[in-house]
Amino acid sequence: MRNVGIQCFFCGSLTFGICTALLFLCFHYNQVSKWQEQPREVNAALLDEKLQQHISRGSRKTPTSHVRVQRPHKDETKEQRPLLKLNKDFNYTDLEVVHGFLKYGFNVVISKSLGNERHVPDTRNKMCRKKHYPARLPTASIIICFHNEEFNALFRTVSSVMMLTPHRILEEIILVDDMSEFDDLKEKLDYHLEIFRGKIKLIRTNKREGLIRARLIGASRASGDVLVFLDSHCEVNKVWLEPLLAAIREDHRMVVCPVIDVIDSRTLEYQPSPLVRGTFNWNLQFKWDTVFPYEVEGLEGPTRPIRSPAMAGGIFAMKRHYFNELGQYDKDMNFWGGENLELSLRIWMCGGQLFILPCSRVGHINKEHIVNRTGVTRAVTYNNLRLVHVWLGEYKEQVFLRRPRLRSIPYGNISERVELRKQLGCKSFQWYLETVFPELEDSKNSSKGKQIIFIYKGLKSPLLLQHKEKYKFGTS
Ligand code: UDP
Ligand code: MN
Repeated sequence: MRNVGIQCFFCGSLTFGICTALLFLCFHYNQVSKWQEQPREVNAALLDEKLQQHISRGSRKTPTSHVRVQRPHKDETKEQRPLLKLNKDFNYTDLEVVHGFLKYGFNVVISKSLGNERHVPDTRNKMCRKKHYPARLPTASIIICFHNEEFNALFRTVSSVMMLTPHRILEEIILVDDMSEFDDLKEKLDYHLEIFRGKIKLIRTNKREGLIRARLIGASRASGDVLVFLDSHCEVNKVWLEPLLAAIREDHRMVVCPVIDVIDSRTLEYQPSPLVRGTFNWNLQFKWDTVFPYEVEGLEGPTRPIRSPAMAGGIFAMKRHYFNELGQYDKDMNFWGGENLELSLRIWMCGGQLFILPCSRVGHINKEHIVNRTGVTRAVTYNNLRLVHVWLGEYKEQVFLRRPRLRSIPYGNISERVELRKQLGCKSFQWYLETVFPELEDSKNSSKGKQIIFIYKGLKSPLLLQHKEKYKFGTS
C-alpha cells in the first residue's frame, strides 16, 4: 500500500514537472520567436488585411486542384504534425506532398511537374512595356546561393535567368552550393548545368557558411559590373534586369530591388504583388508597408521607383565596386538574417540610396518554414545585435526597452565594423530616422518605454515633402 502511495506521489510529481517544463518552454519560445526571422519577402504587417492576404498568401486566386481541405486528426503521423501549423487548405494525405513540405517548405509534387522551366505571367504594369532602356548597360553577375534546395526550383531559377536575360548584359551566373547534403545537387546538377556552359560558375563551399558568407564567396568570384543576388527558388519576369541596370548606370550608389512577386508555396502559382516599400519595427523585424500616394503620382505613375527604408534581402542589385567600397556584408554575421537591415542602414546612412523598381519583377517561393529553426533564431539574434551596436547609437535603447534580455547576449567583436562606419563617414541613425524613415513607430505606442520622446514627432509631413524633392529619382 505504501509502495502504491509512493508510486502515485512519484507519478504525480513527474507529471507536474513535465507540465511545468512544457509551460516554461512554451513561454520561452514565445519570447524568442518575437526575434525570430520573419518571412522576409512577404510580411506586410502594416498593410490593410486584404492587401496583406494578397501578398502573403496570394489568396486572390483560387488554389489549384492539388490542394484539399483535409486536416490531420488525432492519429496523424509524427511527420504530419508540424504541418498543422499551416492551418489552411492542404492535402495532408499525400505523403510526398507532406514530406516535400517538411524538407523544402513548399509543394514538391507540383515543382516536379513544372520541371526545368515554365512560362510565368507578365505582371508588370502596362506602362512598363513602353519603357526603353539604354542600349549600353553595365553587365551583371547573378549570384545564387543554395543550401539543400529542391532541384527543380533551383533549376527553374537558373533557366528563367538564362531565358529572360539578354546575354550581352549577363556576364555570368554564379551558383554557390553552401554545403548541401542532398544527392541530386551533386553530379546530377553538374550534368544538367552543362547546357549553360560558359555562363555558369558553380562553387561548392567545403563547410556550411550560411547565406551571408556564401554570398561573399560568390561576390569575390564575380566579374560583372553589377552584382545581382537572387534566392535559389525564384523565377524572373520579362525585362527584369534592364530597369535595375539602367538605374545603377545613372547613379552608382543606387541599390535597387525588383518588386517581389509571390510564388505560392502550395500551388506554385505565380502571382503579382502590389507596390510596397520595405520597412521594419523596433524589434528589427522586416515588413512590407504601404507606399505614399505621391510615390505613384505624376507622369510615371505606378512605374515610378519607390524609395524604400529597407530591403527584404533576398533579391537586389548593386554595383560591384560599390558593394566592396561600402564594406560588403559583415562577415562575422552567422547563417541568415539581419544582414538585409544592416546593409539597408549602411546604404542610407553612408551616402547611398535604396529603391524598389516597379518595372522589374521577380517571383519568389514563399517557403513555409515549418520545422523548428533554433539555429537560425540564434543567428538572427546575434546578427541583429551586431547591427544594433554598430548602427543604432543611442537608439539601441529602444530595442533593449522592448527586449531587456538582449542586453546581456554576446555579439562578438564589432570593432572592424565600427571602424568601417567611421571611415565611410556615415551619418547618424537619428539622421536616418528624420530623413529616410520618420514613420518608424515610436515607443509611445508600446507599453514599454513610454518616457522616450522622439524628436521627429511632428516633423513628419514637412520632412516627407522636403525629401520628396531631395530624393527625386533620375528616371531612365
Ligand atoms: N541559404 C544558404 N545557406 C544557408 C541558408 C540559406 O545558401 O545557410 C540560401 C537558401 O538556399 C536560399 C537563400 O539562401 O537560396 C535564402 O534563404 P531562404 O530562402 O531560406 O530565406 P528567405 O527567403 O526565407 O528569406
Ligand atoms: Mn527565399
